[in-house]
Amino acid sequence: MIDFLIIGGGAAGLYAASLIPEAVILERNDICGKKLLLTGGGRCNYTHNGTVPEIMEHYHGNINFIRKVLYRHTPDDIITHFRELGIKPGNENGKIFPLYGDAHSIRDALLHNGNRIIRGKALSIEKNDAFFVIRTENEIIKARKILFAPGGMAYPRTGSDGSGYQLIKTLGHSIEPPYPALAPLELTPSLKDAEGITIPITIRKDKKEISDTAVITKRGISGPAAENFSYLLSGRENVTISFDDCDIKSLRETSGAALLKNALSIPPRLSQILLGPLAEKKIANLSKAEAAKAEEIITRYTFSCRPIAEGAMSTRGGVKTSEIKAETMESKQVPDLYFAGDIIDVDADCGGYSLTWAFATAYIVSLSCK
Ligand SMILES: Cc1cc2nc3c(=O)[nH]c(=O)nc-3n(C[C@H](O)[C@H](O)[C@H](O)COP(=O)(O)OP(=O)(O)OC[C@H]3O[C@@H](n4cnc5c(N)ncnc54)[C@H](O)[C@@H]3O)c2cc1C
Repeated sequence: MIDFLIIGGGAAGLYAASLIPEAVILERNDICGKKLLLTGGGRCNYTHNGTVPEIMEHYHGNINFIRKVLYRHTPDDIITHFRELGIKPGNENGKIFPLYGDAHSIRDALLHNGNRIIRGKALSIEKNDAFFVIRTENEIIKARKILFAPGGMAYPRTGSDGSGYQLIKTLGHSIEPPYPALAPLELTPSLKDAEGITIPITIRKDKKEISDTAVITKRGISGPAAENFSYLLSGRENVTISFDDCDIKSLRETSGAALLKNALSIPPRLSQILLGPLAEKKIANLSKAEAAKAEEIITRYTFSCRPIAEGAMSTRGGVKTSEIKAETMESKQVPDLYFAGDIIDVDADCGGYSLTWAFATAYIVSLSCK
């Protein structure tokens, strides 16, 4: 009989294990923290500098629930915990990375307790009055308390293949439907001939907009603008993208003799792709209708757009926060069942906020399970 079993040795599970030496980890992969090792391009942006009110605006979901969690374990607390584990913080425009190490040093630091690790995939979980029975492909495990931290469905090759949703439904929990978040976007029409160009854009859907850097790819766009916008899309939807402010009237006064493609503040190659023959015209020679058309294309180009699930770094949706006690992260339905990380219906922008969430929720669980 195990006192405290952590299902999922990812970011959240390992953070909890770093605080509970007697906890046992059940992990389906040969190594723990496969996704953690990929974070921040292998450098691990493990939190974001700032007060709770400052970072709050980067989270999506039940705001009261999120606030309670983040106040309980703030970015400063996370930095302190890693400092105690030997990781000095480096601050890059607010994003916190290890000053000297990389994602491996973060993963290894969290394993400092030498927690016992059982290799295997949880295939079913049942609860009787006194304990849980977890069946893996190799064995049957009994545990008094469980932290359920199998991640969402992002980067399934790292172990989080979405099967956690089905598992937890069998214990009576309901799931907010999962969608890719922090994902690159597919655009139709694609801008594939402009692949590789990096530009600031504003992307809009209804009254929501995100202004940030985008990298044009074969299928659409990636980078912060795409990733931070992706949580707003539930499948394929129309969006408008503004590539430049483009006021042809002012351009006519200042650069009337210039070709339109050379006067805009976007690379001429992109202007040609967006504007076609209009890009090759002198600004002074544009008719009123042509000028209006060019302005519309550059400032409000409508694309059909959808998140590219394979590239998503996080998941929107998951176990409903209304079914979890924010004070303890314990299930309201099933005593001694706790949640942390991506499996919960909360997601965040890129910048260290997702790991902050995984770590803060795991910390709260550790308080009840010591
Ligand atoms: C490429 C990439 C880069 C990222 N970079 C950053 C970054 O720099 N900063 C940031 O804040 N966020 C980043 N993220 C997001 C961040 O990695 C996740 O939010 C975080 O890992 C979630 O932690 P988790 O423990 O909930 O899930 P995961 O880290 O996905 O861990 C879940 C674990 O559970 C295991 N598991 C699943 N099902 C079972 C089962 N049935 N039985 C046993 N084990 C199971 C999995 O194998 C996995 O090890 C990045 C994500 C990706 C994909």
